[in-house]
Amino acid sequence: MSDAFDTDPLPQRLVSGLSRLAVALRTAQWRDAEALDLTAAQLQMLVLLGGHGVAMRLSDLAARQGVSRPTASDSVAALERKGLVTRQPDQRDGRATLLSLSPAGAEIAESVGPGAAPMLAVAAVLPLAEQTQLLRLIIKLIRGLQMRGAIAPARICVTCQHFRPGAHPDKPATPHHCALVDAAFGDRNLRLDCREHDPAPAAEAEIIWRRFSGADAQPQTEGLAS
Ligand code: SF4
Repeated sequence: MSDAFDTDPLPQRLVSGLSRLAVALRTAQWRDAEALDLTAAQLQMLVLLGGHGVAMRLSDLAARQGVSRPTASDSVAALERKGLVTRQPDQRDGRATLLSLSPAGAEIAESVGPGAAPMLAVAAVLPLAEQTQLLRLIIKLIRGLQMRGAIAPARICVTCQHFRPGAHPDKPATPHHCALVDAAFGDRNLRLDCREHDPAPAAEAEIIWRRFSGADAQPQTEGLAS
């Protein structure tokens, strides 16, 4: 093949493509937010709180959003004034408060999703095998960023102590197992933000990861709690 095709290293082109997708997502979020008289950051906060399912501390919310605590605090104050977010004292820590959606905030969070209508339409027409493969790749990228401290920990299956990757080698469509609900599931069902996620201790997480990523061909339950 001609050297003319090797101008940029492949990882650099991948990141360039991902950054274009990020711009498309941000633009869609901005448009959704504007229609609701919110900023994109405020709308993202509502969606994060809605997806989390239970009340969150401001520090956790700021980490999930990738912003500083004062920046998150400004967004929360604006959302409180609009009657979309409420605060309650944290019973476990007298100095902290917990943030929840008001009924009006929950309604908005449910209606808009992650601000990705155009991206959803594009993803939905990919063949199922490609959607599933893409989900695996996204999970690998999220975990990699997490391991480098570049993003806040996400509640993904591959870091959960209930995850048993490849526990059902006889079931190609549903090779994995969730020990919490005692059910088999496939790559297409891997969770990106599971409310029942329970972080695995470091050694266990490494075993889970090696099995999921195919780096370990040992029996699938060895080293993991049953
Ligand atoms: S509890 Fe949730 S995150 Fe953990 S393995 Fe089951 S589905 Fe995945």
